[in-house]
Amino acid sequence: MQYLTVLGATGSIGDSTLDVVSRHPDRFAVFALTGHTQLDKLAAQCAAFNARYAVVPDEVSVPLLRDKLQSVNAQTEVLCGAQSLCDVASAPEVDMVMAAIVGSVGLRPTLAAAEAGKRVLLANKESLVMAGDLFMGAVRGAGATLLPIDSEHNAIFQCLPADFGPDRRSGVCKVLLTASGGPFRSVPLESLASMTPQQACAHPNWQMGRKISVDSATMMNKGLELIEACWLFDLCAEDVDVVIHPQSVIHSMVEYVDGSILAQLGNPDMRTPIAHAMAWPERVSSGVASLDIIQTARLDFEAPDLTRFPCLKLAVDAARAGGSSPAVLNAANEIAVAAFLDGHLPFTGIAKVVAEVLNAVPSSEPASLEAVQQCDQTARQKALEFMRRFSG
Ligand code: NAD
Ligand code: MG
Repeated sequence: MQYLTVLGATGSIGDSTLDVVSRHPDRFAVFALTGHTQLDKLAAQCAAFNARYAVVPDEVSVPLLRDKLQSVNAQTEVLCGAQSLCDVASAPEVDMVMAAIVGSVGLRPTLAAAEAGKRVLLANKESLVMAGDLFMGAVRGAGATLLPIDSEHNAIFQCLPADFGPDRRSGVCKVLLTASGGPFRSVPLESLASMTPQQACAHPNWQMGRKISVDSATMMNKGLELIEACWLFDLCAEDVDVVIHPQSVIHSMVEYVDGSILAQLGNPDMRTPIAHAMAWPERVSSGVASLDIIQTARLDFEAPDLTRFPCLKLAVDAARAGGSSPAVLNAANEIAVAAFLDGHLPFTGIAKVVAEVLNAVPSSEPASLEAVQQCDQTARQKALEFMRRFSG
């Protein structure tokens, strides 16, 4: 039996993970589940999966969750706070940790899982964007197994040769990172400024949380994914080409020196990469319907338009600059996306805020978690200052 902690159990990736767990009760069991605001949902999940522990954000939420657990007859013990997230990610009873908290708050517990040598199922791309060097160092140092959940990275992992590594390129010459182009791929450029949060969150192919949905609409998500790919597979930005593929059937590709291109295809459903990473190197059923290739019929490709998607260019530039730039980019983006979702910033303001903050924060080489968090805080402050000037 493999024991699992799900960080961010109440979100979209959390739901898909628990769906896969429920299909294999002989193989996977839950140790701990964590949530933030949806306590009813967290209580129901704890009862359904017989979780040993649940983690909530603060003291106030503890009695609230306890009451809900009592009413559904669950025996789960309730913990709270940031340290408890790290504790349930690193506990000796845990084999695997699904890192599915959204944003920079996911960094510390994900790092704790890596430092404890767990099998880390990485959905929280922000961990690698903010602290790729530290994170990969922790994975190597503790002998953790890092498996990508992001559908593109999981596809790349499946298409790379098993012996691929920093000293062995095994004939690989390029990675083709596919992107759907999001909901605004073909809306007139002049109407982008008036796009609403609801329109931005209506992704044509994927059901996801609101933050990553907005990132898909700006294509910042693809930029974050390029940075993520560089850390995961030891690539540089020049090794990765972003390709728009509106059907989201090919999840990414790897090109070899002999002209071969290997692709991984499937329906756009996160249960495929989740089941792949949970069972790797074996395969288990995921509940995802078989891809009807005849029905799919067409696979289209185009180059991304950087005028339409300035966030993609900002992210590629930050990837090339390295050092603190990706952490600064990520923090500014989190603030700008939250402001957009709250109705305080136009859609086209997101790229402006990120560009402004990247210009304002001097780049550095953060060598510790504290230094990374300092960059993150400085960038957040600058983003808030800029937005105050922007609106006033
Ligand atoms: P979501 O918004 O649906 O869920 C986020 C989860 O994080 C929830 O359980 C929430 O309770 C928790 N959370 C939020 N703020 C928190 C805080 N301050 N402290 C503790 N917990 C907090 O998001 P999602 O779509 O499931 O995405 C989760 C992560 O996976 C993100 O990093 C995203 O980039 C990545 N990812 C998601 C998808 C997808 O299809 N949804 C695909 C690839 C990667
Ligand atoms: Mg992705």
